[in-house]
Amino acid sequence: METVRHWIDGAPADGQGDASGDVFNPATGGVGARVPYASVQTVDKAVAAARRAFPGWRDTSLGKRARILFSFRDLLGKRAQELAAIITREHGKVLSDALGEVTRGAEVVEFACGVPQLLKGEFSENVSQGVDSYSLRQPLGVAVGITPFNFPAMVPMWMFPVAIACGNTFVLKPSERDPSAAGFMAELLAEAGLPEGVFNVVHGDKTAVDALLAHRDVAAISFVGSTPIAKYIYETGARNGKRVQALGGAKNHMVVLPDADMELAADAVINAAYGSAGERCMAISVLVAVGDAGDRLIPKVMERLSAIKVGSGVDPASEMGPLVTKEHLDRVRSYVDSGVKEGAKLLKDGRDVSVAGHEKGFFLGPCLFDGVEPRMKIYQDEIFGPVLSVVRAKTYDEAIGLVNDNPRANGVALFTNDGGAGRKFQNEIEVGMVGINVSIPVPMAYYSFGGWKDSLFGDSHVHGPDGIRFYTRGKVVTSRWPDPRHRGTDLGFPVSS
Ligand code: NAD
Repeated sequence: METVRHWIDGAPADGQGDASGDVFNPATGGVGARVPYASVQTVDKAVAAARRAFPGWRDTSLGKRARILFSFRDLLGKRAQELAAIITREHGKVLSDALGEVTRGAEVVEFACGVPQLLKGEFSENVSQGVDSYSLRQPLGVAVGITPFNFPAMVPMWMFPVAIACGNTFVLKPSERDPSAAGFMAELLAEAGLPEGVFNVVHGDKTAVDALLAHRDVAAISFVGSTPIAKYIYETGARNGKRVQALGGAKNHMVVLPDADMELAADAVINAAYGSAGERCMAISVLVAVGDAGDRLIPKVMERLSAIKVGSGVDPASEMGPLVTKEHLDRVRSYVDSGVKEGAKLLKDGRDVSVAGHEKGFFLGPCLFDGVEPRMKIYQDEIFGPVLSVVRAKTYDEAIGLVNDNPRANGVALFTNDGGAGRKFQNEIEVGMVGINVSIPVPMAYYSFGGWKDSLFGDSHVHGPDGIRFYTRGKVVTSRWPDPRHRGTDLGFPVSS
């Protein structure tokens, strides 16, 4: 059986005193690999490597940093199929979806390749007589990324290309449930010419995370995962004096107005609710049908639901793969049970799905509830599986109120043909990422990605302009060259002359 290894100082590495755990293949239910859970000593070793590499990397020219990222981008393109296969093997999502994740991650690398332009400062000549002022953005030191299972390549790529481009060194702690994509990306970075120690990977669980949060040589922490852990990371990291951005969980609503194109809305909600078996932070999990929109939309959704092909991610015919672990499958199933108990109408029950030849795989078919009410657990909690809840709203204002009352505010979508309704939505809705007739409004790499309220703790979103600001700190220099006009003592506060 394969053993996943850490990546420290430019090479695969073994830890010291590590524990370990299983990595499953969700399509078969079998154990595919063992992964080490880093001890405090192993984390120390990785941070020490990143710390040693920092001065040299900080002083590496912008052009050279960009060229290494261009090479990495090139290698990612050439090896995308291999990386996608690794993702599918450990996460379960279908190959085409895994390839989509690699593509979206590579777009952040493309953004980071523009770092010479992005790090330009400002210059003011003659702020006083013979005195100039200029601003710089400088790297922070060792930056850490702690990432979730659902995008094992894309979410790390939201972070490290930008951090590295800005001159930081990096330690990635990927999800222990699908750890292998991180090692593959580390190899590609080394092949692209990244110096040893600039990018490191430590695998592990809470022990490793806590060691990173407390480490005095860690300057900044980017986290993506569930809301309770995001809050913990933000509070602990901030208490320890780190700069922190912590993206949390979601409960994304899609509001459909009666004038919407119902065919388009039905396609869109199917793609957004059931793609990647609902294990996307931008998945739609609540459909808010306004007025009679539900009566016209639900039959179209039902038609499409029966056609969804559930199966192993490596089978090109499959559209929806398994859930990531047996434990997660049981959790999602229990939400379906609870929705039934609480009185929601289960229009489509995916609990009895079975995939021939993969009887032990962690599969759940698509589930659809109608008549869901905000008091129900299936409405209140993030389920993170192929379960869509339909809530009926009498008016558009009631629908907006429902979305704005929800503490999770990652993504949201509106379907309508009314431009005025669209404008009202973008103005009044209290959510970080908004789609108008777009059900998965993931911002492009050159914008920043992030939610509001309990979906993000901290001040910065990831990648795009916020990413550059997060991974750098500002400095302003005021300078003059010795000039006889400046002679003479003056104890007053300097003002421009
Ligand atoms: P998770 O919170 O369980 O784990 C995320 C990371 O935190 C992993 O690396 C894990 O090892 C670590 N971790 C877990 N428990 C910990 C603990 N007690 N102490 C310290 N570290 C701990 O999340 P997950 O199940 O891997 O991913 C799914 C979640 O991530 C969902 O809630 C989803 O909405 C969210 N997510 C959010 C975004 C976003 O952009 N907001 C993107 C992707 C995923």
